Amino acid sequence: MKEKLKIYNTLSRTKELFEPINAPHVGMYVCGPTVYGEAHLGNARPAIVFDVVYRYLLHLGYKVRYVRNITDVGHLEQDSDDGEDKIAKKARLEKLEPMEIVQLYTDAYHEVMKKLNVKPPSIEPHASGHITEQISMVEEIIKNGFAYESNGSVYFDVEKYAKNSDYGKLSGRIVEDLLSGTRDLEGQSEKRKSADFALWKKASPEHIMRWVSPWSDGFPGWHLECSAMSSKYLGKQFDIHGGGMDLMFPHHESEIAQSQACNKCSPAKYWLHNNMITINGQKMAKSLGNFITMNQLFSGSSPMLHGAYSPMTVRFFILQAQYRGTLDFSNESLEAANKGYKKIINGLRISKKLIYIESEKPKDVKLNEELLKLIDQCFDGMNDDFNTAITIGHLFNLLKKINSIYTGSIETGVIEKEVFDKTISTYGTMVENILGLTEEKATDMEGFITALIELYKDAKANKQYDKVDMIRAQFKTQGIVLKDMKTGVDWGYEE
Ligand code: ZN
Repeated sequence: MKEKLKIYNTLSRTKELFEPINAPHVGMYVCGPTVYGEAHLGNARPAIVFDVVYRYLLHLGYKVRYVRNITDVGHLEQDSDDGEDKIAKKARLEKLEPMEIVQLYTDAYHEVMKKLNVKPPSIEPHASGHITEQISMVEEIIKNGFAYESNGSVYFDVEKYAKNSDYGKLSGRIVEDLLSGTRDLEGQSEKRKSADFALWKKASPEHIMRWVSPWSDGFPGWHLECSAMSSKYLGKQFDIHGGGMDLMFPHHESEIAQSQACNKCSPAKYWLHNNMITINGQKMAKSLGNFITMNQLFSGSSPMLHGAYSPMTVRFFILQAQYRGTLDFSNESLEAANKGYKKIINGLRISKKLIYIESEKPKDVKLNEELLKLIDQCFDGMNDDFNTAITIGHLFNLLKKINSIYTGSIETGVIEKEVFDKTISTYGTMVENILGLTEEKATDMEGFITALIELYKDAKANKQYDKVDMIRAQFKTQGIVLKDMKTGVDWGYEE
């Protein structure tokens, strides 16, 4: 199956056969969040998309080292080289330490990820924990002649680097345009050209997050952390680098330039970018007032929402689209996703209950062929650049057959035993292991218990002792014991 996986590589703009540098080992790096606020809908898509990539590679038998970073320093407002650090700004506004902000929103991010059933990465490095690695990298880039110091800050010399490299290739930008559009800034700025980007910034006196370096007390540029941490944990060259499309330029383009200038090789073999989520056709932005956090989605606490949407509904909604396609959020699309998710999960419950019963009847050759074809099609979807949209479509077709077996309109006996087993196991593997959809227990425990206790009381009053025993036994299977008290009936967990 391995040799069939094709991945769309942003670098070549074609689908390429996936051939890891050092199979069965696979190194994957994905740009994580800047932790200065609550996780929002825009954070959910890359997290879920690359979780499925990770899960599928594991399913194929690869040994994956998945690194997803936490940006806790150096990410300035408007993604620029000037302006306030996003985390420091939040800390100032909230009157907290910057590291309190980092801890608060890292924990909150993890909580949301857990709800979305996103597997934790193998390593989750923080930028602030890798300052020495970043300083070493700057030193090496200066030594190789691709960076210059200016007033305690260090900038990457884009023009010089672009002479002998394909700067702009990843994002599809024309290097001449990038350079000709950049003014000569001599005398007005620390930078020589506006296309240059910061590797190290000298901290102003009021800047809290600062470290000692050969150039100044300061902090690293935003792009540098990913180059330093990916090469530290995955080597100078690794297999997959992922992130949102919005990171392609300047972030990822700069990462390539830094790695080339430092290590003289391109960092990642395959570059994957997920598309953005729009809201009613518009880009999501705080300034547009259409910003939705994940916790608002889960609780329904936003005037834009018709109600609450469960984590698995959101996960299913995101996976219904291929990751490179746009995805538009609306209440209607989330409601439709909720129906789809429930169908899939009911199928899972049914498939776990189905038992194969032999029969005297001859096997239905056509049906067996059909089932095998559907199973293949589910995997074909994943093998075609992780096309979860196609896979889910075929999964629904497979589900139709499973439902027919469940209702008895297809007898298990007419299916070959191996085909039956493969049908059930494929459905379960696809839903739970690869798409990462789990059953959300919709039952309100308290409500159910109260209702059942009422039945228990009725039965007791009517001296229906077999019924009483049955209800007690039912509770016991759930680890709950009923207590007959003077004040009525109460319950507790079985100790
Ligand atoms: Zn990054």
